[in-house]
Amino acid sequence: MTYTYFNPTVIEFGEGKIKSITKYIDKNLKVLVVYGGGSIKKNGVFEQVSKALEGYTWFEFGGVEPNPSVETLNKAVALIKEKNIDFVLAVGGGSVIDGSKYLVASAVYDGDGWDFLEGKTIEKALPLGAILTIPATGSESNGTAVISKKSTNEKRYFGSSLTYPKFAVLDPTIMSSLDDRQLANGLVDAFVHTCEQYLTYPNTSLLHDGYAHTILRGLHNLSLNWKDRKTLVWQENLMLLANQALNGFIGSGVPQDWATHMIGHEITAFYGLDHARSLAVVQPHLLRVMMEDKKDKLTLMGKEVFDMPHNYEMVVEAIEYMYKSIGVSTKLKDYDVDDKVIENITGALKKHGMTAIGERGNLTLDKVEKILKMSLN
Ligand code: NAP
Ligand code: FE
Repeated sequence: MTYTYFNPTVIEFGEGKIKSITKYIDKNLKVLVVYGGGSIKKNGVFEQVSKALEGYTWFEFGGVEPNPSVETLNKAVALIKEKNIDFVLAVGGGSVIDGSKYLVASAVYDGDGWDFLEGKTIEKALPLGAILTIPATGSESNGTAVISKKSTNEKRYFGSSLTYPKFAVLDPTIMSSLDDRQLANGLVDAFVHTCEQYLTYPNTSLLHDGYAHTILRGLHNLSLNWKDRKTLVWQENLMLLANQALNGFIGSGVPQDWATHMIGHEITAFYGLDHARSLAVVQPHLLRVMMEDKKDKLTLMGKEVFDMPHNYEMVVEAIEYMYKSIGVSTKLKDYDVDDKVIENITGALKKHGMTAIGERGNLTLDKVEKILKMSLN
């Protein structure tokens, strides 16, 4: 096994930590505060940020939508250039933080920022900080951004060591304004992130496996204790687990799958499903189609996460049961999709060069079609 593990993001965890941002942002820097549809203006977070930034020169850009689009983000790029912004502070969930990663790279690039989504390497970026308001994606401590282009129904990603936030504030008390839909989405996204890096072969590190088991077991426990979801302890645990699921460690040096995400992204791009919900309609069917490759690891997962040794098929049922128990459907037929869905998704994967995905590169488009058919039945 060989790997480089790199994670420069300082984590400031706990109640009241928003004020700690001043430790990381120099007073003479011009700051742009980026946020989403306005939840931070209703739950007191914006006030806390404004108070922390007293004495700074700062501007705001709101309106970054879930599944952030270049159409919206390019307006913020123009603002950054116009005001000569030096530091971007993302206050939100995966959408705002991912969107801000696009901003810090695009604002110091001469061409069109979408180039990064087409594979161009990021060579420089402004510094970025994050205040997380919804745990799910791990975006607060990784360098990845998933960005959409509305005009072409595309959703693509880039990753760079230059777009890690310098710091991330994780204050679980901010989660009290989240509704059940968003809490469930966070749990599912974090569970799938862990599976993408763990349900692969050869992947035999006891340390990586044990770390993944702890995350998966923790998330499963949170689903069993769903009735406690409004408590600080439950929310604090989700925030910790989702962060660790995608801060890079459990994926370092091991094969990674990500096929559920690749297919899910295309579903969201065409039909607007929440990110986590797009994953839940793919993953169980994908595991069944890829069972030959996945069964050894599923057996281990059954023993270590669900206390059910020996039957890997039942492990997939347990995952489905878990998602459904917190109100997340595992069937695409439960959503408003048209009869072009299979053609649209396989066509988009083909367009993006993703005709053989998964950790072994053997999940071909005929298998994608099979997965989608199972989800539509
Ligand atoms: P999100 O799209 O950032 O936010 C979802 C919704 O939750 C928004 O409507 C937002 O409202 C609301 N919200 C956020 N915090 C809130 C709070 N404290 N109280 C009340 N409402 C709140 O959700 P997300 O699941 O974190 O991010 C999803 C995006 O991340 C997708 O585009 C997905 O593809 C991407 N993603 C990224 C990575 C990565 O590694 N970078 C990994 C997986 C997925 P407001 O807009 O009003 O705040
Ligand atoms: Fe995800």
